[in-house]
Amino acid sequence: MLPKRSLGLTGIDVSCLGLGTVKFGRNQGVKYPTGFDLPDDAAVVALLDLARRLGINLIDTAPAYGTSEQRLGKLLVDRGQWVLCSKVGEEFIGGKSTYDFSGSHVQQSVERSLRHLNTDYLDIVLVHSNGNDSSIITETDCFATLQRLKEKGLVRAIGMSSKTVAGGLLALDLSDVVMVTCNPGEREDLPVIARAHDLGKGVLVKKALASGHLGSAAGTDAVLESIGFVLGQPGVTSIIVGTINPAHLQHNVDCAEKALAARE
Ligand code: NAP
Repeated sequence: MLPKRSLGLTGIDVSCLGLGTVKFGRNQGVKYPTGFDLPDDAAVVALLDLARRLGINLIDTAPAYGTSEQRLGKLLVDRGQWVLCSKVGEEFIGGKSTYDFSGSHVQQSVERSLRHLNTDYLDIVLVHSNGNDSSIITETDCFATLQRLKEKGLVRAIGMSSKTVAGGLLALDLSDVVMVTCNPGEREDLPVIARAHDLGKGVLVKKALASGHLGSAAGTDAVLESIGFVLGQPGVTSIIVGTINPAHLQHNVDCAEKALAARE
C-alpha cells in the first residue's frame, strides 16, 4: 500500500502518488507521444477501483480536461475516501484553451466543478496558469476569491499550478500548495520545491514522466528512475501521474514503493 503524507499544513493526507485524469476526458490538443481513445465508463471505473486498492486517494482533474470532471462525478464512488483536486482559470472549448482569472469567473468555475464532481466541497483548487503566474497573482482577484471560497467551506486548500519559478515562489507565500513540473530532464522548479519544504507547504508534481516522453538506456527503467528522482526531492508531497493503462498504474505504484524503500 502506498503511504500517505500530510499536504503541507492543510490537514489533508494524500497518497504519495496521485492519479491525473486529463486522459479520462480529453484527447485533443494534448502533447502525449501517441493519440488515444477516451476510456469507456467500465475502464474508468476499473482504473479508479485499482487506484483505490493500491492506496491512491488523490485525483487531479480540471475544467480544461474535457469531460474529466463530469465523468468523475458520475463514476467515483465513496467521495469521502478521495481527495479531489481541481483547477480554475483555463477553459478548453472547441479544441482551444482560453483563460479567465477574474474573481467572477473563478467563483462560477468552482460552483460548476462542485456540480460536475457531484460534491459539496473540493479538497484542493489550483489556479491553472497560462504561464503569466506573477501577473495572475498580483493583478487579478483570483487568489482573494479562492480564499473567500475556502472561508465558506467550499474549498479546503488553494494554490497554483505554476509555470515559472517566480510565480511558484509567490504562490507559496499566498496559498497552501503548488503544483510544479519535475522530472530528471526538467529541474527548473527545484527551488520552488525547496522553498515549499522550508515553509511546510504542499507540493504536487505534474509531468514526472515527462508526459510519456521517456527515453530509457538499455537495462534501465525510466519510470523507476523518474519516480525515484522526484520522490527523492525533500518537499515533494505527491506525484500526479496521468495514465489510463492499469498495467502502467500498477507499475508506477510498484516504482514508488521501491523508490521509497530504497531511501529507508
Ligand atoms: P505524466 O504523468 O508525466 O505522463 C503521462 C503519460 O505517461 C501518459 O501518456 C501515460 O500513458 C504515460 N505513462 C504513465 N505511466 C506510464 C508507465 N508506467 N509506462 C509508460 N508510460 C506511462 O504527464 P501528464 O499527464 O502531462 O501530467 C500528469 C498529470 O498532471 C495530468 O494528468 C494532470 O492531472 C496534471 N497536469 C497538470 C497540468 C497543469 O498545468 N496543471 C499540466 C499537465 C498535467 P498511458 O495512459 O498509456 O499510461
